[in-house]
Amino acid sequence: MTPMEKIRKLRESGNFHFTKSLGQNFLTDENILDKLVRAAGITEDDAVIEIGPGAGIVTEKLLQAAGPVLAVEIDKALIPFLQETLEPYPNFTLWHQDVLKAPLCQWIQENSPEQPVKIVANLPYYVTTPIVMKLLEENLPIHSMVLMVQKEVALRMAAKPGTKDYGALSVAVQLYSQVEKAFDVSPNVFIPKPKVGSAVVKLTIHEKPPVQLDHPELFFTLVKAAFGQRRKTLSNALSHLRPKEEKQQILQVLEAASIDPVRRGETLNIQEFATLSQLWQKQFFHDTMEAHKKSERVERK
Ligand code: SAM
Repeated sequence: MTPMEKIRKLRESGNFHFTKSLGQNFLTDENILDKLVRAAGITEDDAVIEIGPGAGIVTEKLLQAAGPVLAVEIDKALIPFLQETLEPYPNFTLWHQDVLKAPLCQWIQENSPEQPVKIVANLPYYVTTPIVMKLLEENLPIHSMVLMVQKEVALRMAAKPGTKDYGALSVAVQLYSQVEKAFDVSPNVFIPKPKVGSAVVKLTIHEKPPVQLDHPELFFTLVKAAFGQRRKTLSNALSHLRPKEEKQQILQVLEAASIDPVRRGETLNIQEFATLSQLWQKQFFHDTMEAHKKSERVERK
């Protein structure tokens, strides 16, 4: 069945209507489908997870090329159609679930205990960042993700320091993976047509992270603060995190990290953010801990 035939059959089944709020834009172009699956470099040795199978258009291609395939779909109205049309494939598993709540680790352990899995998805755009961050932060055994996303999001994921697209998302994604923008996709190859342009990105997960983070939460707090006030110098943007009287200490941290305080946050690379968070931790939280220990000693006396 061609993608258009599948969509027609799904509509004729009577239970399904496109839901805009679920980011439902189904792919209709065979050529783009092939490019998407090819970009993922899938072989029959690979276990694959697809997020949002929709009418099963990408899913069927994956089932033909891969080993076990798990598809996670939130929309109940699509489940009977997917079950019926993809039933002939013994390597198919379907979960009716919100991927943000799905225990993917469990499926991976059971289906690909030795080898990291590959993720392929034409993502629902309304929830791209939470899905990508869940997959990255949970440290699941993932080899790579090939994702159709909104074009602007693809540019932000791949952006380098000092460019207008570089932001907290660039730092977060590049901390965990090497990002490659594979190709642009026109709105004309979807039904219904999205109002925005699309692009396919490939995130290949780092075997070894580029920096070791002892305090990832602090790292991300500093990243967010630095980008939250893009027009301000770094020392001013960071001063929001500490009481006013600690400005001098912020300047000391920046000096120790060899970062010019008049730079803008958006010029810092991941290594610089990591050094900054390490020294910030030492300067502010070490002091806090020392003060705490001191007060405990005084109380015991
Ligand atoms: N893969 C299909 C294709 O390319 O034609 C459909 C892609 S469509 C852009 C996104 C799909 O993700 C829809 O089927 C939608 O119902 C599903 N979806 C939306 N939010 C989801 C979530 N939180 N968890 C799982 N699936 C979701």
